[in-house]
Amino acid sequence: MLATGLHDPLRNAVTAMRFGWLPRDASGDIVLVAIDPASIAKIGVWPWPRTMHAELIERLENAGASEIVFDVDFSSASTPDADQAFEEALRKAGGSVVLPAFKQFAQERSGATAIHVDRPLPRFARHAWSAAINVEPDADGLVRRFPSGEWLDGAFVPSVGALLADRYENGGTILIDFGIRAASVPIVSYVDVLRGDPAVVAALKGKKIIIGATALELGDRITLPNGRVIAGALLQAIAAESMLQGRALRPAPALVTIGEVGLLVLAMLGLWRRLSGGARAGLLLGSAAAVEVCATLLQSVAPIVVDTSFFHAAVAAYFVAIALDEIDVRDLLGMIAEKRFQRIAMAIGDGLVCVDAGGAITLWNPGAEAIFGYRLEDVIGRPFAMIFAAEGSGSRPPFAITEMPSASLQAPGGKVMELEGCRRNGEIFPFEACFSAWQGTEGTQYGVVLRDISVRKREEDRIRYLATYDPLTGRPNRNSLYEHLETELRAAKDSGSEVGLLMMDLDKFKDINDSLGHTYGDGVLCEVAARLRHLSAETALVARLGGDEFAFVLSGAGVADRAEKLSEAITDSFANGEFLLDGHRFLLKCSIGVALFPRDCDEVQELLGNADLAMFRAKSGGHGRHVFFNPTIRGELEERLSLTAELERASACGEFELFYQPQFRLKDRQLVGAEALIRWRHPVRGLVSPGAFLAVLETTSVADRTARWVIESACRQGRLWQQMGHGIRVGANLSPTQFASGDLAATVADVLAETGFSPSLLELEVTENILLSDDARAREIFRRIRDLGAGIALDDFGTGYASLSYLKKFPLNRLKIDQSFVRELKPGSSDAAIIESTITLAKLLGLSVIAEGIEERSTIDALEKMGCDEGQGYYFGRPMPVAEFEQKYFAKTLRSASDPVRAEEAATAA
Ligand code: C2E
Ligand code: MG
Ligand code: MG
Repeated sequence: MLATGLHDPLRNAVTAMRFGWLPRDASGDIVLVAIDPASIAKIGVWPWPRTMHAELIERLENAGASEIVFDVDFSSASTPDADQAFEEALRKAGGSVVLPAFKQFAQERSGATAIHVDRPLPRFARHAWSAAINVEPDADGLVRRFPSGEWLDGAFVPSVGALLADRYENGGTILIDFGIRAASVPIVSYVDVLRGDPAVVAALKGKKIIIGATALELGDRITLPNGRVIAGALLQAIAAESMLQGRALRPAPALVTIGEVGLLVLAMLGLWRRLSGGARAGLLLGSAAAVEVCATLLQSVAPIVVDTSFFHAAVAAYFVAIALDEIDVRDLLGMIAEKRFQRIAMAIGDGLVCVDAGGAITLWNPGAEAIFGYRLEDVIGRPFAMIFAAEGSGSRPPFAITEMPSASLQAPGGKVMELEGCRRNGEIFPFEACFSAWQGTEGTQYGVVLRDISVRKREEDRIRYLATYDPLTGRPNRNSLYEHLETELRAAKDSGSEVGLLMMDLDKFKDINDSLGHTYGDGVLCEVAARLRHLSAETALVARLGGDEFAFVLSGAGVADRAEKLSEAITDSFANGEFLLDGHRFLLKCSIGVALFPRDCDEVQELLGNADLAMFRAKSGGHGRHVFFNPTIRGELEERLSLTAELERASACGEFELFYQPQFRLKDRQLVGAEALIRWRHPVRGLVSPGAFLAVLETTSVADRTARWVIESACRQGRLWQQMGHGIRVGANLSPTQFASGDLAATVADVLAETGFSPSLLELEVTENILLSDDARAREIFRRIRDLGAGIALDDFGTGYASLSYLKKFPLNRLKIDQSFVRELKPGSSDAAIIESTITLAKLLGLSVIAEGIEERSTIDALEKMGCDEGQGYYFGRPMPVAEFEQKYFAKTLRSASDPVRAEEAATAA
């Protein structure tokens, strides 16, 4: 209170209130002669000549006033006559008059405050008493106290009030008793005294007189603690009355204040929990009233003012404390927190459940409702265990929530568990629960945040499935196979048994994909997977490795035997058992490679590699077979790899060369064409035939480049011969890769344009498998080549799978009957029948026919009879380098000699 400045106003207010309760009248011994508006009006001038004051003194003296105090300034001279008259009156009064001395405060230039003392003129002072007239207001501008005197120029001058009360010693500052009603102080008008009004004069006898201004226009107004404004002279009168009546108030010692507050504190501490809040409040009110009554009584009998403001403030503080205590701040804060918690609980998406010490649900938010389907009213008060599946379903938690170790629940983050819950509709589902606990007023309380993780679980399961299974066929995938092999190999190592790995690849599966579409291909793979599953009859793991590759893992006794049998069973089943899908019936072949552990290897990767090699071998050795791994296979592969590298180098170094084999018209034995056949002039191995490298070349990075080079070189050569005057047809073999990559027709057009070779003399040879691969695309390519003017011959006719219907579909010029039918042609043989019917058919379709592999003269005759147009073979000439070819067939002089037919005929004739 002291610090906040509340103390003074409160104390002053209480004291002022007490003045209101203790009114008392003035003694009447002091009379105020008022310079009132009536007097001013009557006399007509202001300031009044001092002769008036002189006359007043005389009148008062005559009326028998005992003391006359002027609250009027006599510190400066007026007119000599008036001053003289006044001095005379003072002298006559013989010392019963008191004149005021003022302290004036003036601000000097330097900023310091100078005090001037305005005293009555010495000539007046000589015949009168001086009295200090200053009163000092408090900080709030109100006057509450007055001094018993002032030290002026080293001498103590009693104040007007003290003087009127006949107190001349220094009694310090005293509090004025404002209980003394200002209205009870007798006041007479200055002018009435002058006029000698008998009633007035009679009232002045023996009284102490104070003369001062009450007219508003003269100022000198003072504000009292009760808010009333009175004249300065009246205040002096009340102050004097306070002293006269022994009511010069003094504050009670501080000890009293401390004591009363101390008692209150002790009482409240003692009674705090013993009495109810109401009783304590009543007690406080009573004690406040009692203290105030006591203080008032004391003030009324003794001039002592007890400061009860601290006591009242303490009472007020206790009231607040009791009120807060009654409301229970903690409860209030708790309620606020609870409200906030409720709001959050209702808003969060997760389920939130609170459980009391007895295991009953006390809070159930909309999130929990959404997860479990129970509404708030279904669950409140029911056991928490109800959210788990019914007993015996295995999804009940292995504990009761109230039995969970509270240390783990009260730790930050709580305890997270994955459990199985049961929705209202009976559905069992996984959820994640975070349990926590805290101490509430009613024992341990539990909070459980619930999250439905069924979607997440499903996703996890799906991801796990995708990571381990092939989604198309439902078979374990490559990862699973690796894992399974690891386990099996470990077990086999321990038990000393064997593990067999079969790697299976469908032959020409790409053809199905290309011709019937990938969706159909997927369907085929599913059929294949089902059949493999059936064939392996649970004895082996069947995995799909991707594409058309499957793997089987066999373990246990007799692995090698079982692998052999399974391989045979699979290849047989595929060779003989048709697949039927969407109305298509088809046979599929497959190649199988088998590798055994620990016979061929000692770890998984090696086993896989070996099985792969064996499969590769099975494929390259002809389809529909199975091959067991042996170390030579690896050697072959390594050879193949080195051949690849060598071919790439050979291409860069220009080691490829074209040989030409002549083609003759049978009826007149005329040279009509030459087939370009590739050779590799190996720096060490010498001349290498295409059979030794072509298959590998087609898998290398230089395949396309080399294929183009063949056409280009053949055309260039054909053009040269043309320019030399030997416009023969030149045949060039196309490789299957040329159909798959790039734009073959455009390449041919470019080459023809670049070389200037007549398109009509170019014949491109294709094998049947090209026709099979993608007939629509191939047909389009053929059509464009034909449009260029070049011809197309179907090579090795009769060896492939192409049915005769293809002949009609494709724009062909010529059939080349494969040498296998021709080489050892015997009249009346099945080969002869095939050739004959082929020729007939070709003729019907408007195609020319050329027979390959003519090695004997007799063959020519036979073919000629059958209607074959042309022939090619060792009998006519082997494939040879250009120079040899030119030498043999174009050197004019040698022409007849070089004609092998003629030469032979000549020889025979000879
Ligand atoms: P192909 O196109 O059928 O070529 C005829 C093959 O039969 C040639 O073997 C030729 O030497 C051989 N031959 C010809 N007449 C006789 C005969 O009377 N008796 C026997 N036993 N064989 C005969 P070559 O040159 O070894 O070529 C083999 C195959 O390589 C060719 O068969 C062809 O398919 C392919 N080829 C050759 N050169 C190229 C080429 O530049 N590009 C492409 N893509 N393939 C080529
Ligand atoms: Mg050919
Ligand atoms: Mg051929």
